[in-house]
Amino acid sequence: MKLNFKQQLTAVFGHPVAENPTQVMVEAAYRHHDLDWRYLTVEVLPEDLPAAVAGARAMGFAGFNLTIPHKVAVIDHLDSLGESARMIGAVNCVVRRDAELVGENTDGRGFLESLRSVIDPAHTTVMLIGAGGAARAIAVELCLAGADRITIVNRSEERAAALLSDLSGSVSTALQYQAWSDPIVVPTGVDVLINATSIGLYPDVEASPPVDFDIVDRRTIVADVIPNPPVTPFLTRAAERGCRTIDGLGMLINQGRLGIKYWTGLDPEPTVMRRALEEVFER
Ligand code: NDP
Repeated sequence: MKLNFKQQLTAVFGHPVAENPTQVMVEAAYRHHDLDWRYLTVEVLPEDLPAAVAGARAMGFAGFNLTIPHKVAVIDHLDSLGESARMIGAVNCVVRRDAELVGENTDGRGFLESLRSVIDPAHTTVMLIGAGGAARAIAVELCLAGADRITIVNRSEERAAALLSDLSGSVSTALQYQAWSDPIVVPTGVDVLINATSIGLYPDVEASPPVDFDIVDRRTIVADVIPNPPVTPFLTRAAERGCRTIDGLGMLINQGRLGIKYWTGLDPEPTVMRRALEEVFER
């Protein structure tokens, strides 16, 4: 009997495991470039993380990605951190360099690569909606890229305050908080407006941060981190207003590209990765 990928995972774990879009995307790139590499999806319980990292080290893995709940806890089991991961305080990508396991964070850099295809982030004024992990990664990279000003809008003021306090002092970007409101008013002069919350993620596909797009400047570039669905109501409303938009699929592809580059040294073809992801999300 031949098992498909999802059935194989179910067989390995003994219970149904959802298809991992990142695996599908990365392995599509490996195949396209004739790389005899594999990218595996494994579920690790929090209490098993130390043993899992030791296992990856012992088995000579070139690296691995991590997701919630391991992004912070893994730091104690690594040898060093890259600059972004240190400033963000979280690791989503581990890279073996000689005998060392180095923690990197590619989430914010993936976003910045998408942004750079539309605007140079240096000297921009940004409104960032959200203060969770994705917002934190993006805020750090915007600061490192020389953004002039970032306004954080978040439902929980404490979380926004923690992010602002972690950043202030180490960056020259002006940082401020704007309280969550309905509608969220975007002042004139904002170059880039970003939804970095989980609002709009599948299956909640009708949801959108309550931005009043009727008064958004048409020159404002509007970005969403949500990869699934790639076109969110937030981006649809921005496009209807006449704003240029950036989707979250690009961020996911770029962080995948950065990981592949770290592990294999090869800069993979992004169109192959986008096609693979679109197929997964259309299913
Ligand atoms: P977190 O749980 O760390 O943060 C969630 C954020 O969304 C918080 O700011 C939270 O506000 C806000 N939020 C959630 N629900 C609501 C709501 N109903 N009303 C107002 N605010 C809300 O998640 P992450 O930051 O890790 O992830 C956020 C999104 O980014 C996810 O959808 C994920 O898919 C996406 N992502 C995309 C990537 C890509 O490559 N495209 C990479 C990484 C993440 P509060 O603090 O008040 O709770």
